[in-house]
Amino acid sequence: MTLLAVSKTKPVAVIAEAIAAGQRTFGENYVQEGVDKIQHFAALPEGTALEWHFIGPLQSNKSRLVAEHFAWCQTVDRLRIAERLNNQRPATMAPLNVLIQINISDEQSKSGIVLDALPALAEAIVALPNLMLRGLMAIPAPEVVYPRQLAVFGQMNDAFLALRQRYPQVDTLSMGMTDDMAAAIAAGSTMVRIGTAIFGHRDYSPT
Ligand SMILES: *Cc1c(COP(=O)(O)O)cnc(C)c1O
Repeated sequence: MTLLAVSKTKPVAVIAEAIAAGQRTFGENYVQEGVDKIQHFAALPEGTALEWHFIGPLQSNKSRLVAEHFAWCQTVDRLRIAERLNNQRPATMAPLNVLIQINISDEQSKSGIVLDALPALAEAIVALPNLMLRGLMAIPAPEVVYPRQLAVFGQMNDAFLALRQRYPQVDTLSMGMTDDMAAAIAAGSTMVRIGTAIFGHRDYSPT
């Protein structure tokens, strides 16, 4: 189980405290904010050991920054963005680890593909040499009833196991946030993305 510490909106001083406590894997939602933090810590001795995941919605015009700075992109949901990331990944870097984002329950959300579209997108991504398909990610619609959380995450786990059967390098099922991590773990998550429970509530008010 990997704990991804979601540090969006949090200052580098707070991230430094998490690093001092032993945390190495961090998630960021906003491209420029994430790149600034990656560069800040890269200049420090401990920076090299960190692994940064992009977990926000990705626009085409920002893909180059993700390809050039992050180790993972968890929100790939169309071939066009995968191809851009593949073309923009520097040859000096290891392949960019990618997760395909699934729209598992939130019909309002424009992010993620439906499960029916997964086999074709996975096949296309696996053919891109500078990307490494590692698995699936989902942000289900908010749901407070535990058995319903479990049912949705269970659908994700079924899709994950089928994908892993086909592509042996697939090893990551990213699901579970502060309010639903217990159900996600019970249903087979291999990576929970936790912000609030680690860093406290986020303040989005202008400073
Ligand atoms: C903000 C965010 C999280 C963390 O959410 P919390 O409820 O604060 O734990 C996880 N995943 C994604 C994609 C996010 O945007």
